[in-house]
Amino acid sequence: MEYTEIDKTNLKKLSTVALGTWAIGGSDWGGTDVKQSISTIHHALDLGINVIDTAPAYGRGESEKIVGEAIKNISRDSFYIATKVGLDWSKGDGLVYRNNTKENILKEIDDSLRRLQTDYIDIYQIHWPDPLTPIEETAMTMKSLLDAGKIRAIGVSNFSVEQIETFKKFAPVHTVQPPYNIFEQDFKNELLPYVKNENMTALYYGSICRGLLSGRMTADSKFNGDDLRNADPKFQPDRFPSYINAVEALDKWAKESYGKSIISLAIRWLIDQPISGIALWGARRPEQLNAVEGVGGWRLTEEDYKTIESIVNKYVKEPVGPEFMAPPVRTL
Ligand code: NAP
Repeated sequence: MEYTEIDKTNLKKLSTVALGTWAIGGSDWGGTDVKQSISTIHHALDLGINVIDTAPAYGRGESEKIVGEAIKNISRDSFYIATKVGLDWSKGDGLVYRNNTKENILKEIDDSLRRLQTDYIDIYQIHWPDPLTPIEETAMTMKSLLDAGKIRAIGVSNFSVEQIETFKKFAPVHTVQPPYNIFEQDFKNELLPYVKNENMTALYYGSICRGLLSGRMTADSKFNGDDLRNADPKFQPDRFPSYINAVEALDKWAKESYGKSIISLAIRWLIDQPISGIALWGARRPEQLNAVEGVGGWRLTEEDYKTIESIVNKYVKEPVGPEFMAPPVRTL
Protein backbone atom coordinates (compact mmCIF):
# COMPACT_ATOMS: atom_id res chain seq x y z
CA MET A 1 0.00 0.00 0.00
CA GLU A 2 1.19 3.52 -0.77
CA TYR A 3 0.31 6.53 1.36
CA THR A 4 -0.24 10.25 1.09
CA GLU A 5 -0.94 13.10 3.49
CA ILE A 6 -3.25 16.09 3.48
CA ASP A 7 -1.42 19.38 3.49
CA LYS A 8 -2.12 21.88 6.30
CA THR A 9 -3.80 19.19 8.46
CA ASN A 10 -2.72 16.53 10.94
CA LEU A 11 -3.90 13.81 8.56
CA LYS A 12 -0.76 11.82 7.71
CA LYS A 13 -0.29 8.41 6.14
CA LEU A 14 -3.60 7.96 4.36
CA SER A 15 -3.72 4.98 2.00
CA THR A 16 -3.89 6.00 -1.67
CA VAL A 17 -6.73 3.49 -2.10
CA ALA A 18 -9.87 4.16 -0.05
CA LEU A 19 -13.01 2.09 0.35
CA GLY A 20 -16.06 3.76 -1.22
CA THR A 21 -19.30 2.75 0.49
CA TRP A 22 -22.06 4.09 -1.73
CA ALA A 23 -23.05 0.59 -2.89
CA ILE A 24 -22.92 -0.60 0.73
CA GLY A 25 -25.77 1.85 1.45
CA GLY A 26 -27.96 -0.10 -0.99
CA SER A 27 -30.01 2.64 -2.62
CA ASP A 28 -29.13 3.26 -6.28
CA TRP A 29 -27.25 -0.05 -6.26
CA GLY A 30 -30.06 -2.62 -6.07
CA GLY A 31 -29.93 -3.28 -2.31
CA THR A 32 -27.43 -4.18 0.41
CA ASP A 33 -26.39 -7.05 2.67
CA VAL A 34 -25.32 -5.73 6.07
CA LYS A 35 -23.20 -8.71 7.17
CA GLN A 36 -21.35 -8.82 3.87
CA SER A 37 -20.86 -5.05 3.95
CA ILE A 38 -19.28 -5.18 7.41
CA SER A 39 -16.97 -7.99 6.25
CA THR A 40 -15.99 -5.84 3.26
CA ILE A 41 -15.03 -2.92 5.53
CA HIS A 42 -12.99 -5.22 7.79
CA HIS A 43 -11.31 -6.80 4.77
CA ALA A 44 -10.40 -3.34 3.43
CA LEU A 45 -8.71 -2.51 6.74
CA ASP A 46 -6.88 -5.87 6.68
CA LEU A 47 -5.56 -5.03 3.21
CA GLY A 48 -4.05 -1.76 4.51
CA ILE A 49 -6.82 0.54 3.25
CA ASN A 50 -7.24 3.07 6.06
CA VAL A 51 -9.63 5.61 4.48
CA ILE A 52 -13.38 4.92 4.33
CA ASP A 53 -15.54 7.26 2.27
CA THR A 54 -19.25 7.43 2.98
CA ALA A 55 -22.14 9.93 2.95
CA PRO A 56 -25.52 10.37 4.68
CA ALA A 57 -27.22 10.16 1.28
CA TYR A 58 -25.91 6.63 0.60
CA GLY A 59 -28.91 4.50 1.56
CA ARG A 60 -30.38 7.52 3.41
CA GLY A 61 -28.16 6.96 6.46
CA GLU A 62 -27.68 3.22 5.95
CA SER A 63 -24.09 3.40 4.66
CA GLU A 64 -22.94 5.56 7.58
CA LYS A 65 -24.73 3.21 10.03
CA ILE A 66 -22.99 0.17 8.56
CA VAL A 67 -19.61 1.92 8.68
CA GLY A 68 -20.33 2.85 12.33
CA GLU A 69 -21.14 -0.75 13.20
CA ALA A 70 -18.02 -2.03 11.43
CA ILE A 71 -15.58 0.33 13.16
CA LYS A 72 -17.07 0.66 16.63
CA ASN A 73 -14.58 -1.71 18.28
CA ILE A 74 -11.55 -0.67 16.24
CA SER A 75 -9.00 1.84 17.52
CA ARG A 76 -10.23 5.17 16.17
CA ASP A 77 -6.76 6.47 15.29
CA SER A 78 -6.03 3.52 12.97
CA PHE A 79 -8.30 4.72 10.11
CA TYR A 80 -9.80 7.86 8.60
CA ILE A 81 -13.48 8.53 7.98
CA ALA A 82 -14.46 10.78 5.09
CA THR A 83 -18.15 11.62 4.97
CA LYS A 84 -20.23 14.32 3.34
CA VAL A 85 -22.97 16.83 3.96
CA GLY A 86 -25.62 18.71 2.04
CA LEU A 87 -27.93 16.21 0.38
CA ASP A 88 -31.34 16.29 1.98
CA TRP A 89 -34.01 13.61 1.52
CA SER A 90 -36.54 15.01 4.00
CA LYS A 91 -39.01 15.94 1.22
CA GLY A 92 -39.83 12.24 1.10
CA ASP A 93 -40.31 11.97 -2.66
CA GLY A 94 -37.44 9.50 -3.06
CA LEU A 95 -34.99 12.16 -4.27
CA VAL A 96 -32.13 13.92 -2.50
CA TYR A 97 -31.87 17.71 -2.85
CA ARG A 98 -28.84 19.94 -2.41
CA ASN A 99 -28.95 21.83 0.88
CA ASN A 100 -25.79 23.52 2.17
CA THR A 101 -27.46 25.93 4.58
CA LYS A 102 -25.96 26.49 8.02
CA GLU A 103 -29.10 25.04 9.61
CA ASN A 104 -28.85 21.84 7.57
CA ILE A 105 -25.09 21.35 8.07
CA LEU A 106 -25.37 21.77 11.84
CA LYS A 107 -28.16 19.19 11.92
CA GLU A 108 -26.42 16.73 9.59
CA ILE A 109 -23.07 16.71 11.41
CA ASP A 110 -24.70 15.44 14.59
CA ASP A 111 -26.72 12.84 12.68
CA SER A 112 -23.54 11.61 10.97
CA LEU A 113 -21.54 11.45 14.21
CA ARG A 114 -24.33 9.43 15.82
CA ARG A 115 -24.65 6.99 12.92
CA LEU A 116 -20.88 6.60 12.63
CA GLN A 117 -20.58 6.09 16.42
CA THR A 118 -17.68 8.52 16.65
CA ASP A 119 -17.05 12.01 18.00
CA TYR A 120 -15.14 13.44 15.05
CA ILE A 121 -14.95 13.16 11.27
CA ASP A 122 -11.56 13.23 9.57
CA ILE A 123 -12.60 14.65 6.20
CA TYR A 124 -15.97 16.44 6.00
CA GLN A 125 -16.99 17.19 2.44
CA ILE A 126 -19.70 19.33 0.88
CA HIS A 127 -21.33 16.76 -1.38
CA TRP A 128 -22.56 19.07 -4.20
CA PRO A 129 -22.63 22.85 -4.70
CA ASP A 130 -25.99 24.37 -3.76
CA PRO A 131 -26.83 27.41 -5.90
CA LEU A 132 -29.54 28.48 -3.45
CA THR A 133 -27.16 28.95 -0.49
CA PRO A 134 -24.38 31.57 -0.44
CA ILE A 135 -20.99 29.81 -0.46
CA GLU A 136 -19.97 32.18 2.36
CA GLU A 137 -22.66 30.71 4.66
CA THR A 138 -21.60 27.13 3.86
CA ALA A 139 -17.87 27.83 4.24
CA MET A 140 -18.21 29.71 7.53
CA THR A 141 -20.30 26.87 8.97
CA MET A 142 -17.67 24.30 7.93
CA LYS A 143 -14.96 26.50 9.48
CA SER A 144 -16.87 26.58 12.77
CA LEU A 145 -16.92 22.74 12.80
CA LEU A 146 -13.18 22.64 12.10
CA ASP A 147 -12.50 25.13 14.90
CA ALA A 148 -14.68 23.09 17.28
CA GLY A 149 -12.70 19.90 16.50
CA LYS A 150 -15.74 18.04 15.17
CA ILE A 151 -13.97 17.70 11.82
CA ARG A 152 -10.25 17.57 10.94
CA ALA A 153 -10.24 18.61 7.28
CA ILE A 154 -12.67 20.36 4.94
CA GLY A 155 -13.43 18.93 1.52
CA VAL A 156 -15.63 19.89 -1.41
CA SER A 157 -17.04 17.54 -3.99
CA ASN A 158 -18.24 18.35 -7.52
CA PHE A 159 -17.09 21.98 -7.13
CA SER A 160 -15.59 24.10 -9.92
CA VAL A 161 -12.37 26.08 -9.46
CA GLU A 162 -14.41 29.26 -9.26
CA GLN A 163 -16.62 27.85 -6.48
CA ILE A 164 -13.56 26.66 -4.54
CA GLU A 165 -11.93 30.08 -4.87
CA THR A 166 -15.02 31.71 -3.37
CA PHE A 167 -15.16 29.11 -0.58
CA LYS A 168 -11.52 29.75 0.30
CA LYS A 169 -12.21 33.37 1.12
CA PHE A 170 -14.05 32.11 4.22
CA ALA A 171 -12.58 28.69 5.09
CA PRO A 172 -9.72 26.42 4.07
CA VAL A 173 -10.30 23.68 1.50
CA HIS A 174 -8.03 20.68 2.07
CA THR A 175 -9.52 18.11 -0.31
CA VAL A 176 -11.62 17.89 -3.45
CA GLN A 177 -13.71 14.93 -4.59
CA PRO A 178 -14.29 14.87 -8.36
CA PRO A 179 -15.25 12.00 -10.66
CA TYR A 180 -12.06 10.76 -12.35
CA ASN A 181 -11.14 7.57 -14.15
CA ILE A 182 -9.76 6.40 -17.50
CA PHE A 183 -13.14 7.05 -19.17
CA GLU A 184 -14.13 10.26 -17.34
CA GLN A 185 -11.31 12.76 -17.48
CA ASP A 186 -12.86 16.23 -17.12
CA PHE A 187 -10.96 16.73 -13.87
CA LYS A 188 -7.63 17.02 -15.62
CA ASN A 189 -8.56 20.13 -17.61
CA GLU A 190 -9.06 22.87 -15.02
CA LEU A 191 -9.26 21.35 -11.57
CA LEU A 192 -6.16 19.13 -11.57
CA PRO A 193 -3.69 21.97 -12.29
CA TYR A 194 -5.44 24.05 -9.64
CA VAL A 195 -5.31 21.25 -7.03
CA LYS A 196 -1.63 20.76 -7.83
CA ASN A 197 -0.87 24.43 -7.45
CA GLU A 198 -2.79 24.68 -4.17
CA ASN A 199 -1.26 21.44 -2.84
CA MET A 200 -4.66 19.91 -2.07
CA THR A 201 -5.50 16.21 -2.02
CA ALA A 202 -8.00 14.73 -4.49
CA LEU A 203 -10.26 11.83 -3.56
CA TYR A 204 -11.26 10.43 -6.96
CA TYR A 205 -14.70 8.91 -7.24
CA GLY A 206 -15.88 6.31 -9.74
CA SER A 207 -12.29 5.02 -9.95
CA ILE A 208 -13.35 1.90 -11.80
CA CYS A 209 -16.20 3.65 -13.60
CA ARG A 210 -18.93 1.89 -11.61
CA GLY A 211 -17.44 -1.54 -12.30
CA LEU A 212 -16.84 -1.05 -16.02
CA LEU A 213 -13.06 -0.96 -15.50
CA SER A 214 -13.13 -4.11 -13.35
CA GLY A 215 -12.81 -6.28 -16.47
CA ARG A 216 -15.64 -8.48 -15.16
CA MET A 217 -18.41 -7.09 -17.33
CA THR A 218 -19.65 -8.24 -20.70
CA ALA A 219 -22.02 -6.50 -23.12
CA ASP A 220 -24.77 -8.78 -21.66
CA SER A 221 -24.27 -7.73 -18.00
CA LYS A 222 -27.56 -6.85 -16.27
CA PHE A 223 -28.18 -4.77 -13.14
CA ASN A 224 -30.86 -5.30 -10.49
CA GLY A 225 -33.67 -3.05 -9.29
CA ASP A 226 -32.77 0.61 -8.77
CA ASP A 227 -29.11 0.04 -9.77
CA LEU A 228 -27.94 3.39 -11.19
CA ARG A 229 -26.22 1.66 -14.08
CA ASN A 230 -29.69 1.07 -15.56
CA ALA A 231 -29.77 4.87 -16.11
CA ASP A 232 -26.06 5.40 -16.83
CA PRO A 233 -25.63 6.26 -20.54
CA LYS A 234 -22.37 4.27 -20.70
CA PHE A 235 -24.25 1.07 -19.86
CA GLN A 236 -26.93 1.45 -22.57
CA PRO A 237 -26.87 -0.71 -25.74
CA ASP A 238 -25.72 2.17 -28.00
CA ARG A 239 -22.49 2.73 -26.04
CA PHE A 240 -21.89 -0.26 -23.74
CA PRO A 241 -20.25 -2.53 -26.37
CA SER A 242 -17.71 0.15 -27.34
CA TYR A 243 -16.72 0.66 -23.69
CA ILE A 244 -16.43 -3.10 -23.19
CA ASN A 245 -14.18 -3.32 -26.28
CA ALA A 246 -11.98 -0.54 -24.86
CA VAL A 247 -11.74 -2.40 -21.53
CA GLU A 248 -10.68 -5.60 -23.31
CA ALA A 249 -7.99 -3.75 -25.27
CA LEU A 250 -6.72 -1.97 -22.13
CA ASP A 251 -6.66 -5.25 -20.22
CA LYS A 252 -4.62 -6.88 -23.01
CA TRP A 253 -2.17 -3.95 -23.06
CA ALA A 254 -1.77 -4.00 -19.22
CA LYS A 255 -1.15 -7.76 -19.22
CA GLU A 256 1.40 -7.57 -22.03
CA SER A 257 3.19 -4.50 -20.66
CA TYR A 258 3.15 -5.12 -16.91
CA GLY A 259 1.52 -8.49 -16.23
CA LYS A 260 -1.38 -6.59 -14.59
CA SER A 261 -5.13 -6.68 -15.17
CA ILE A 262 -7.36 -3.76 -16.09
CA ILE A 263 -8.63 -3.17 -12.53
CA SER A 264 -5.07 -2.66 -11.24
CA LEU A 265 -4.35 -0.44 -14.24
CA ALA A 266 -7.43 1.70 -13.52
CA ILE A 267 -6.30 2.37 -9.95
CA ARG A 268 -2.61 2.80 -10.88
CA TRP A 269 -3.68 5.34 -13.52
CA LEU A 270 -5.12 7.47 -10.69
CA ILE A 271 -2.34 7.02 -8.14
CA ASP A 272 0.32 8.03 -10.67
CA GLN A 273 -1.31 11.40 -11.37
CA PRO A 274 1.05 14.26 -10.45
CA ILE A 275 -0.81 15.30 -7.28
CA SER A 276 -1.65 13.91 -3.83
CA GLY A 277 -4.53 11.59 -4.64
CA ILE A 278 -6.67 8.82 -3.21
CA ALA A 279 -8.62 6.42 -5.44
CA LEU A 280 -12.05 5.59 -4.00
CA TRP A 281 -12.78 1.95 -4.78
CA GLY A 282 -16.45 1.10 -4.38
CA ALA A 283 -16.96 -2.44 -3.10
CA ARG A 284 -19.63 -4.36 -1.23
CA ARG A 285 -18.17 -7.87 -1.14
CA PRO A 286 -14.77 -8.62 0.46
CA GLU A 287 -13.36 -10.48 -2.55
CA GLN A 288 -13.92 -7.44 -4.79
CA LEU A 289 -10.98 -5.79 -3.02
CA ASN A 290 -8.47 -8.59 -3.45
CA ALA A 291 -7.21 -7.06 -6.70
CA VAL A 292 -5.75 -4.24 -4.57
CA GLU A 293 -2.65 -6.40 -4.31
CA GLY A 294 -1.95 -5.80 -8.02
CA VAL A 295 -1.88 -2.02 -7.56
CA GLY A 296 1.43 -1.55 -5.74
CA GLY A 297 5.04 -1.90 -6.84
CA TRP A 298 4.88 -0.51 -10.39
CA ARG A 299 4.40 2.85 -12.08
CA LEU A 300 2.98 4.18 -15.33
CA THR A 301 5.22 6.32 -17.53
CA GLU A 302 4.16 9.41 -19.50
CA GLU A 303 4.34 7.28 -22.63
CA ASP A 304 1.93 4.77 -21.03
CA TYR A 305 -0.62 7.53 -20.41
CA LYS A 306 -0.51 8.44 -24.10
CA THR A 307 -0.92 4.79 -25.13
CA ILE A 308 -3.90 4.37 -22.80
CA GLU A 309 -5.46 7.53 -24.24
CA SER A 310 -5.05 6.27 -27.80
CA ILE A 311 -6.63 2.91 -26.94
CA VAL A 312 -9.65 4.66 -25.41
CA ASN A 313 -9.99 6.99 -28.39
CA LYS A 314 -9.77 4.09 -30.81
CA TYR A 315 -12.76 2.28 -29.28
CA VAL A 316 -14.91 4.97 -27.65
CA LYS A 317 -16.12 7.24 -30.43
CA GLU A 318 -18.98 8.86 -28.49
CA PRO A 319 -17.72 9.34 -24.94
CA VAL A 320 -20.16 10.43 -22.25
CA GLY A 321 -19.50 11.68 -18.71
CA PRO A 322 -21.01 10.99 -15.27
CA GLU A 323 -23.31 14.07 -15.37
CA PHE A 324 -26.41 11.86 -15.10
CA MET A 325 -25.61 11.45 -11.37
CA ALA A 326 -26.06 15.15 -10.44
CA PRO A 327 -28.81 15.53 -7.81
CA PRO A 328 -31.52 18.17 -8.25
CA VAL A 329 -31.52 21.65 -6.76
CA ARG A 330 -34.39 22.12 -4.28
CA THR A 331 -37.10 24.70 -4.89
CA LEU A 332 -37.61 27.37 -2.26
P1 NAP B 1 -16.64 2.58 -8.60
O1 NAP B 1 -15.74 2.52 -7.45
O2 NAP B 1 -16.11 3.02 -9.90
O3 NAP B 1 -17.36 1.18 -8.85
C1 NAP B 1 -17.90 0.44 -7.79
C2 NAP B 1 -18.55 -0.83 -8.30
O4 NAP B 1 -17.67 -1.57 -9.10
C3 NAP B 1 -18.89 -1.75 -7.14
O5 NAP B 1 -20.05 -1.39 -6.50
C4 NAP B 1 -18.96 -3.09 -7.83
O6 NAP B 1 -20.25 -3.24 -8.44
C5 NAP B 1 -17.92 -2.96 -8.90
N1 NAP B 1 -16.67 -3.60 -8.48
C6 NAP B 1 -15.82 -3.24 -7.48
N2 NAP B 1 -14.78 -4.09 -7.38
C7 NAP B 1 -14.97 -5.03 -8.33
C8 NAP B 1 -14.25 -6.18 -8.73
N3 NAP B 1 -13.12 -6.54 -8.13
N4 NAP B 1 -14.75 -6.91 -9.75
C9 NAP B 1 -15.89 -6.56 -10.38
N5 NAP B 1 -16.62 -5.48 -10.03
C10 NAP B 1 -16.17 -4.72 -9.03
O7 NAP B 1 -17.91 3.52 -8.34
P2 NAP B 1 -18.51 4.24 -7.08
O8 NAP B 1 -18.77 3.28 -5.97
O9 NAP B 1 -19.62 5.05 -7.59
O10 NAP B 1 -17.37 5.24 -6.65
C11 NAP B 1 -16.50 4.96 -5.57
C12 NAP B 1 -16.90 5.75 -4.35
O11 NAP B 1 -16.81 7.16 -4.62
C13 NAP B 1 -18.34 5.57 -3.87
O12 NAP B 1 -18.53 4.35 -3.18
C14 NAP B 1 -18.49 6.80 -3.01
O13 NAP B 1 -17.84 6.62 -1.77
C15 NAP B 1 -17.78 7.85 -3.86
N6 NAP B 1 -18.65 8.62 -4.76
C16 NAP B 1 -18.80 9.95 -4.55
C17 NAP B 1 -19.60 10.71 -5.37
C18 NAP B 1 -19.73 12.19 -5.11
O14 NAP B 1 -20.60 12.84 -5.68
N7 NAP B 1 -18.90 12.74 -4.27
C19 NAP B 1 -20.27 10.12 -6.45
C20 NAP B 1 -20.08 8.76 -6.68
C21 NAP B 1 -19.28 8.01 -5.84
P3 NAP B 1 -21.09 -4.61 -8.21
O15 NAP B 1 -21.00 -4.88 -6.73
O16 NAP B 1 -22.45 -4.32 -8.67
O17 NAP B 1 -20.38 -5.64 -9.03
